[in-house]
Amino acid sequence: MALLLQIRDLKKQFKVDGRFVPILDIPQWYVEKGEHVAITGPSGSGKSTFLHLISGIMSADSGGIVVDGQPLHNMTESKRDAFRASAIGYVLQDFHLLPSLTARQNVEIAMTSRLPHKERKQIVDSLLEQVGLADRSKHLPSQLSRGQQQRVAIVRALVNQPPLLLADEPTGSLDWETADEISSLLLDLSMTHGHTLIVVTHDLNMADRFPRCLNIQEINKVHRDALPKQQGPLGKREKVTL
Ligand code: ADP
Ligand code: MG
Repeated sequence: MALLLQIRDLKKQFKVDGRFVPILDIPQWYVEKGEHVAITGPSGSGKSTFLHLISGIMSADSGGIVVDGQPLHNMTESKRDAFRASAIGYVLQDFHLLPSLTARQNVEIAMTSRLPHKERKQIVDSLLEQVGLADRSKHLPSQLSRGQQQRVAIVRALVNQPPLLLADEPTGSLDWETADEISSLLLDLSMTHGHTLIVVTHDLNMADRFPRCLNIQEINKVHRDALPKQQGPLGKREKVTL
């Protein structure tokens, strides 16, 4: 099976109160094409940082990240930005939709293809329909529920058919039932469109539905005691109060 993501000797530290604190030290990690992976772990254990590095939004201090055969660590920042726009979809917990744009416009501005307007509209409308928002395309984010806003954010992440879809706590601010719907949607869409999916989550109901699930501390060599003070250590099965 081909690899979609290869991590080697990845290191990241942050400067906190004038001293450098190691956050991530991941000797190696691989994800195969088409895999659906959930990463859990205590607050402050570097999950979001890990996704930022994989997406190329943030640079590592050292090490290699290869996404779909492309070495992010060798790219200039502008090349990495262009690669991310077309090859990586990123769903964030807080949606980050532009408030003055409609649902359809929020998706359309993320499109990298230079297709005529009519075809672009068809692609966006078809995706909005797949997530049950066919009749909400002209709504502003403020006219949508939180679950609907997250659906728009998911469509925006998928609009360029990226080989890799990343999601950072995509159900973190949703009620239980909506969270369950969003979990199903991410898994179903990734299956249908062949995206490799990596989700970071506190939501153990969501993590349980993934064929591959790991705690970041299984692959990160940075000991939790070395991390800046956060909540106490949490086992994979413990309930988390956000
Ligand atoms: P998680 O997503 O697992 O909660 P994060 O990746 O957000 O963890 O953060 C890991 C650690 O790195 C935390 O202790 C956090 O305070 C610290 N951190 C994250 N971003 C920065 C930054 N830009 N500058 C300094 N410290 C940071
Ligand atoms: Mg986080």
